[in-house]
Amino acid sequence: MTVDTVFDKIIRREIPADIVYEDDLALAFKDINPQAPVHILVIPKQQIVKISDARSQHRDLLGHLLLTAQQVAEQAGLENGYRLVINDGADGGQTVYHLHIHILGGRSLGWPPG
Ligand code: 5GP
Repeated sequence: MTVDTVFDKIIRREIPADIVYEDDLALAFKDINPQAPVHILVIPKQQIVKISDARSQHRDLLGHLLLTAQQVAEQAGLENGYRLVINDGADGGQTVYHLHIHILGGRSLGWPPG
């Protein structure tokens, strides 16, 4: 079952967001609470609740989201590297239940994450 999230509202332009990329399948916008100098979210326009819900029919879309993240990171000038993160479910720290890829960069990132 899917529920309407804040990201669906951003897709429909019902709430504002700083959108940096859009195509037929994906949208990328700046995170409202950035954890690094560059913190951008890449989401599918089609709602997939979380990565653990993805199935083989989403193969092309998931590939597209990764290549979009790569392109957006390049556009953001992250030539020194960056991190892509997908949080899944409660233990993964997911707070918005619409699949999204975090692009984090612009500083050296620690490992392991908390
Ligand atoms: P999660 O914790 O689910 O992996 O990440 C959700 C992210 O969405 C968080 O980093 C949070 O700051 C961001 N976020 C939540 N609400 C909004 C919003 O209304 N606008 C934007 N741009 N980002 C949001």
